[in-house]
Amino acid sequence: MDIRFSAEDEAFRREVAAWLDAALTGEFAAVRGRGGPGDDGALVEERRAWEKKLASGGWTCVGWPKHAGGRGLPLSQQVIFHEEYARAGAPGRLNHMGETLFGPTCIAFGTPEQKRRFLPPIVAGEEIWCQGYSEPNAGSDLANVQTRARLEGSDWVIDGQKVWTSWAQWADWCFVVCRTDADSKRSQGLSYLLVPMKQPGVTIRPIQQLTGDAEFFEVFYDGARTARENILGAPGDGWKVAMATLAFERGVSTLGQQMQFRNELEEIIRIARENGKVEDPTIRQRIADAWIGLEIQRWNALRTLSDRAELSPAGMIHKIYWATWHQQLGELAMEVMGDEAEIADAFPYQLKRLQRLFLFTRSDTIYGGSNEIQKNLIAERALGLPREPRPSV
Ligand SMILES: Cc1cc2nc3c(=O)[nH]c(=O)nc-3n(C[C@H](O)[C@H](O)[C@H](O)COP(=O)(O)OP(=O)(O)OC[C@H]3O[C@@H](n4cnc5c(N)ncnc54)[C@H](O)[C@@H]3O)c2cc1C
Repeated sequence: MDIRFSAEDEAFRREVAAWLDAALTGEFAAVRGRGGPGDDGALVEERRAWEKKLASGGWTCVGWPKHAGGRGLPLSQQVIFHEEYARAGAPGRLNHMGETLFGPTCIAFGTPEQKRRFLPPIVAGEEIWCQGYSEPNAGSDLANVQTRARLEGSDWVIDGQKVWTSWAQWADWCFVVCRTDADSKRSQGLSYLLVPMKQPGVTIRPIQQLTGDAEFFEVFYDGARTARENILGAPGDGWKVAMATLAFERGVSTLGQQMQFRNELEEIIRIARENGKVEDPTIRQRIADAWIGLEIQRWNALRTLSDRAELSPAGMIHKIYWATWHQQLGELAMEVMGDEAEIADAFPYQLKRLQRLFLFTRSDTIYGGSNEIQKNLIAERALGLPREPRPSV
């Protein structure tokens, strides 16, 4: 494993930094630092325009292969791009799901026609995607999906309810896991349908979160339609395709996430210096611990990515490690803010960035696989402990 950056990589780093610095001015100055965790609903139209701006510079889908319309960057330069993106304070990506989840899955499983139809608008920053997996009784137990789809003429007709669908309100398309074999159970008989969101059969209701934002939604499908060909993989292959999408969640963009964490830690240190909390020995120790945790995350992510072994034990600890660390960082932020942590910025519920961070990090140990589920995975797959009992089919 060699994770040093070459002179060419360093030149690339300067190119990325210079482009971002120039781009995040004028009409885009306002999006700097916006749209991160707990702030996902901020400046949506401006961030939509930002997606197109990024695309105009060739800075979307930088890790996708060139034949799929991406930039085809080597791993080291993908890491650099994501690090510089966060360092510049560029905004939370509105099409994170399209670029990092759906796109790679479409590249792996899509037909040539599907790739031609769906990949270019993601690269161009024109079509936003969301993920329709979870249901009221199918979260950790995803195989319990009850949303159904049946073929009617040239369309799939979809009925059911999804929940916690992030960015559903702003998305043009959703990849929806549905039961297409009415008699099937558990992971059998599921399909991965691509469903347009802006149609009469789709009703979207916001769920307000602790932060005051509503970045996720209940989505009701009542006779919603999508064309027969809008299915990734064959009917009944949905579980396999859905699991492949989840594997892409641990991609290189996690390095960018860590750079964003670094920005948050720096803000905490700045406040601690300003209000004198930095003199408190326990706070100093916790800040040092947070910094050590961040370094561990970075090296572990680089090790996992450069070994390309995402299902190695090193890869498996990644989610539980960063989620737990980030939650503790939110708690540290509140300690450092002291009394200020208790007071909103303005009536009725305008929160400071670190207050939103603290509240949003409560969800880190839930989404993308809860801590308990991650522990089950580590126990069974990394340590070879006996499988926990599964629901009977
Ligand atoms: C901010 C946020 C964004 C999200 N975005 C999306 C999205 O865009 N699309 C989408 O489809 N979903 C999304 N989700 C949903 C997320 O995937 C689920 O919340 C998650 O899978 C947990 O499912 P659940 O909420 O139904 O909880 P449950 O599965 O009901 O779990 C409840 C509790 O029981 C524990 N538990 C469950 N099973 C076990 C077990 N076998 N062993 C031990 N403990 C167990 C869990 O760890 C948890 O503590 C999002 C969630 C959040 C918080």
